Amino acid sequence: MLRVGQAELERTLQHLRSELPREGVGLWAGRGGRVERVLPLPNVHETPQAAYTADPGALVRGIRDLEREGLELLAIYHSHPHGPASPSSSDRMQAYWRVPYVIFALESGEVRAYNLPDGEEVRLHVES
Ligand SMILES: [Zn+2]
Repeated sequence: MLRVGQAELERTLQHLRSELPREGVGLWAGRGGRVERVLPLPNVHETPQAAYTADPGALVRGIRDLEREGLELLAIYHSHPHGPASPSSSDRMQAYWRVPYVIFALESGEVRAYNLPDGEEVRLHVES
């Protein structure tokens, strides 16, 4: 289970809306399975309206900074500007991290988390 506060969820949504019409991507980090930090990353995919690639340098720097602060990487989030909150085939193919992937469907407002590539859903608990 992944626990996220309402404030962090709202920050993530603000980031993802600011990226439209492109997909947005970033990291969730925290302690004990609770998200305390939202870290937006640049989407450097060549067709960012339809897919995402987190900027590799920013990703490495981000994870290094989080670890320095004693936070652990809890999830990788990205948006689907039009599609459903379920993993696309490219989402599955590029998923090599052992943390849940959180997908925000911006049209419906739905948010879901998965272990990828297998696709098992992870419970996302929103706390105040
Ligand atoms: Zn996707």
